[in-house]
Amino acid sequence: MILKDAEFGEVVVRKSPLAKYVRFSVSTSGRLQMSVPKQTSDFLVKRFLNKNRDLIREKIPVSNPKTQRARDAKKKILTKKARDYLPYRLEYYAKLYGYTYEKCRLSHAATRWGSCSSLGTISLNIGLMNVPEVLRDYVIIHELAHLNHMDHSAAFWAEVENHDPKYKEHRKKLKAFSPGI
Ligand SMILES: [Zn+2]
Repeated sequence: MILKDAEFGEVVVRKSPLAKYVRFSVSTSGRLQMSVPKQTSDFLVKRFLNKNRDLIREKIPVSNPKTQRARDAKKKILTKKARDYLPYRLEYYAKLYGYTYEKCRLSHAATRWGSCSSLGTISLNIGLMNVPEVLRDYVIIHELAHLNHMDHSAAFWAEVENHDPKYKEHRKKLKAFSPGI
């Protein structure tokens, strides 16, 4: 259930049969989350929230509703941009270097730029749309090379280097960016 609160914005309330107490936390998108025992009434949920405002303000980095909305809008635009670009770029490099992958998935993990599953699914982070093209291409080449090497062995890096001779520099520069929105 989502509770709309004037101060904290959208509060995600989880009624869990396992919860014995009320617990507050914050989601990756900056929303306040409350986990409460299953039988807690909505009235009590609101009362707990009101009683704990000071504590939440002090301890929990909840972003305000405006920040949440801005982040949602940003993510929507980025997803659209990524959808129109990343699968095609991946296909381009796969064809160019003779790789076959199963499918391309878009992700928005907070810490990973991309991944490659043993079944051949390549995931690319929508946040790649915010980094320079050469770094974006490096990630794509990195994930394609995982189709042949599911590790970070010397043979893997040799294959990356083959397609991106400046990969070391690109890898280092990428560390200055974060995939989180
Ligand atoms: Zn890797």
